[in-house]
Amino acid sequence: MLYSEIHGQESLKTQLNQRLDKSGMAHSVLFSENEAHGALALALATATRILCDNPSPTDACGECRHCKKVAKLVHPDLHFVYPVIGSDKTSEDYWPQFRELLLKHPWFNLNQWLQHLDSENKQANIPAKECALILQKMSLKPFEAPNKVLIIWLPEYLGKDGNRLLKLLEEPPGHTYIFAVTRNKHKILNTILSRCQEYHLIPLSVLQISSTLTDILPEMNPDEISLISRMAEGSVSTALDISQAGNEKYFTTFRNWLLYAYKGDIKNMNAWSKSLHNFSKEQQKYFIRYSLQFLRTLQSMIIDPSREAMLDEQEFKTANGLKKILSLQTIQTLVKQLDQYHYYIERNANTKILFMNLAILAKKAFHDKAMV
Ligand SMILES: [Zn+2]
Repeated sequence: MLYSEIHGQESLKTQLNQRLDKSGMAHSVLFSENEAHGALALALATATRILCDNPSPTDACGECRHCKKVAKLVHPDLHFVYPVIGSDKTSEDYWPQFRELLLKHPWFNLNQWLQHLDSENKQANIPAKECALILQKMSLKPFEAPNKVLIIWLPEYLGKDGNRLLKLLEEPPGHTYIFAVTRNKHKILNTILSRCQEYHLIPLSVLQISSTLTDILPEMNPDEISLISRMAEGSVSTALDISQAGNEKYFTTFRNWLLYAYKGDIKNMNAWSKSLHNFSKEQQKYFIRYSLQFLRTLQSMIIDPSREAMLDEQEFKTANGLKKILSLQTIQTLVKQLDQYHYYIERNANTKILFMNLAILAKKAFHDKAMV
């Protein structure tokens, strides 16, 4: 991974390059983000830059033997630690699977890592056994490059045993860099936090997300990429989750919501709310976001018919149909409620009741003009 392959985080790249050039880079570093904004990618690109034989002022060369080995994830001086399943296991036990996932792209989240292991509902952690192994590995001299790098992905999964690593983070052995990559820095032991130089990543723009998605999923339809990028709220792993479930699923669910409500079909409204109740919490939130996005697009189509709508063919047809039966005021009511519902889901409301209410609300919006 090179800096040039990461879309976004330009000011951090500049800062990192400057510090690396002036030897002002700390040896214990924290890359922090709240969602997938590129922390693992940035850590990996920084490791490549450090191990590279011939870096430019802005990036690793991508050509030397070190760069080539890092790209294949076979460099003996690049180490990884990450959450695993089972207290008697270490990252080494899961390396083939982790390497396989990371070779595809560095934008996955913990859930996607666990999905890759077919262990979605299991508890992941970085166990004591791992800490002992890290200490042992870091006490060795670099094998091939002048430096070695350890990337600890999600140090928030280190238990109390993380304290054993303190000494290492406080004073990494010569020629050793330790990069901790976190999604939740508030869960990291304070004692570890205080020893690291921090680089905090910002959410990506819609354009940066769509460029990243195009790199990861080149076969995906550009219209779909554009829509998903706008729903992803700056996070690539969210975008990947949405793309996995398929935009189609959200479109159908959205269309059925309004269709059954318009017809006043109580039986199907009930079935609809049950099916949404069975979505994962993340998917329920995406559904709400998708619906909000759709309704807002519809709103702007009504206000300014000349403006080009970012919808695919199927959605465009539905939007044209809805334009005839939904007033601006009704759309506004639905948008307001959906916003509220996103908040309720976030706070673990009973979604069975919640989505039935949403269906009833739409029915009222169509039929009970007094309400809107
Ligand atoms: Zn190189």
